[in-house]
Amino acid sequence: MAGERILIVEDEPRIAEVLARYLTAEGFVTERARDGKEALALFRSFEPDLVLLDLMLPELDGLEFTRRVRASSAVPIIMVTAKSAELDRILGLELGADDYVTKPFSPREVVARVKAVLRRSRPEAKRHERYRAGALELDAGAVRVTCGEQEVPLTPSEFKILRALLAAEGRALSRRELLDALGEAYVDERTVDAHVKNLRKKLGPCAQKVETVRGVGYRVAP
Ligand code: CA
Repeated sequence: MAGERILIVEDEPRIAEVLARYLTAEGFVTERARDGKEALALFRSFEPDLVLLDLMLPELDGLEFTRRVRASSAVPIIMVTAKSAELDRILGLELGADDYVTKPFSPREVVARVKAVLRRSRPEAKRHERYRAGALELDAGAVRVTCGEQEVPLTPSEFKILRALLAAEGRALSRRELLDALGEAYVDERTVDAHVKNLRKKLGPCAQKVETVRGVGYRVAP
C-alpha cells in the first residue's frame, strides 16, 4: 500500500497539515488543494489513488467537485463534513462518495478509513481473479479455495503455490519459479515439495489435479 497517492482537499491549513502528516507517516504520498478549482487541476496532474474531500470549500464546493470527477473517474472519495451537514452527507453518498468522516475527527480514524476504502477499491481484476480446474476453484480476492462444495483451508504458502500453478494454465512450473511465487527465493527448493505434499493432503479428491512433472516441477491440469 506504500506510495499510494492521496489528494487532500481542505481549505483549513491546520487540518490539511495534520492529515498530511499522519498519512505521510503511514507511507502515503500526499498533495494538498485549498479550494475546489485547485483540487480539480491537481486531480488531473497528480492522479491520486484516493481523494479526501472537505465539502465546504471556496471556488467550487465538494459536491460539485465530486460531480465533475465522477463524470470520468471512479477514484475513491472520502468526504469530510461538518457534523450538522446531514443533507450534504446524503447528497455526497448519492453522488458517489465512498465514505465520509465528520468533523471534528481523529486523524487516526481518517487514516484507518483511507486504508479501508483503498482495500475495498482494489482493481476489479484482482478482486475477481478466479481460477478453475475441474472441481477445484480458487478465488484470489476472497482468498478461498474449494474442491466441489468443500472449502479447503490452506496456509498462505500453500495458497500462493496453488494460485501460481493455476495461473500458469497447465504449464509446469519449476520449484524455483514456485519459490519466487512464495517470495522466498533463497529458501531450499525442497520446501516446495513439502508445501505441495501438504497441499495435496488438504485438497482431498482434488489432489490429483496437482501433478508432478519429472525433471521440471509441478503443474495443474486445466
Ligand atoms: Ca472547509
